[in-house]
Amino acid sequence: MPGIKRLLLLGGTAEARLLAKAAQEAFGTRLTVITSLAGRLPESPAPVGLLRVGGFGGAEGMADYLCAERIDLAIDATHPFAATISAHARKACDATQTPRLLLLRPMWQKKPEDRWVMVDTWRDAASRLPQIGARAFVAIGIQELDAFANLPQTYILARLAARPAQAPALAQGEIRIARGPFLVEDELRLLQDQKIDVIVCKASGGASSEGKLIAARKLQLPVIMKNRPPPEPGPTVATPQDALDWLRTYVS
Ligand code: NAP
Repeated sequence: MPGIKRLLLLGGTAEARLLAKAAQEAFGTRLTVITSLAGRLPESPAPVGLLRVGGFGGAEGMADYLCAERIDLAIDATHPFAATISAHARKACDATQTPRLLLLRPMWQKKPEDRWVMVDTWRDAASRLPQIGARAFVAIGIQELDAFANLPQTYILARLAARPAQAPALAQGEIRIARGPFLVEDELRLLQDQKIDVIVCKASGGASSEGKLIAARKLQLPVIMKNRPPPEPGPTVATPQDALDWLRTYVS
């Protein structure tokens, strides 16, 4: 309908959920928000607004979707490590001349007492791990866990968001299923109970998974952290509030 804008919001993050809710409160029926999820995890409760689930079929598939669904605006609020969907969003929006904003949460701030070891690859993380600790708390994705399969001397406590169809091949270790947000006191208890002496994680940023880093700081534990992939170029904001301001320039 004339005057009503349609927003594709690429989600799967707390920021996307917050933005969907805030956009509806700010614009009401003047903006239709369609959140898109990959559909790998059950999302509960459903985000505010409309929802579509599943891949688009690459950048071309997303471009087709933008045209077929008469999308006026796109916001990529996916996770900082979800590099493929972000690249597809840039290509699809460029091809269809759809204005696109990247909502990229800020990286965590390192404190002087933090013992972070930054790496660019999981292979590098796995090769350094045995020299740094013997009992590792590994909070990364199921696909990435494969890099840690051949470490006979290292106990791996791996935390995943959902039970994998196939158990990862770990020389010794255990899988815990849990979804954030994670409280600092719970993370402290876990690290102490399990006698963890090193953490492995992504440089995700965000409050919901920062608890383990605050706990590591208190316990003076080293953290092997994978750097983020480079973000897609183009207009970028750090918070849902800033994304709302961008929307205000398009939605009357
Ligand atoms: P990815 O590697 O960048 O994307 C792989 C493929 O999954 C994409 O090519 C696309 O398939 C599909 N996809 C991803 N996100 C989608 C979305 N929001 N809507 C529709 N299709 C999507 O993504 P990923 O790292 O596996 O992350 C998947 C989802 O989980 C993302 O939405 C992300 O925000 C969320 N998430 C990721 C992480 C992480 O550490 N990577 C952490 C928390 C949440 P097609 O090519 O077929 O379109």
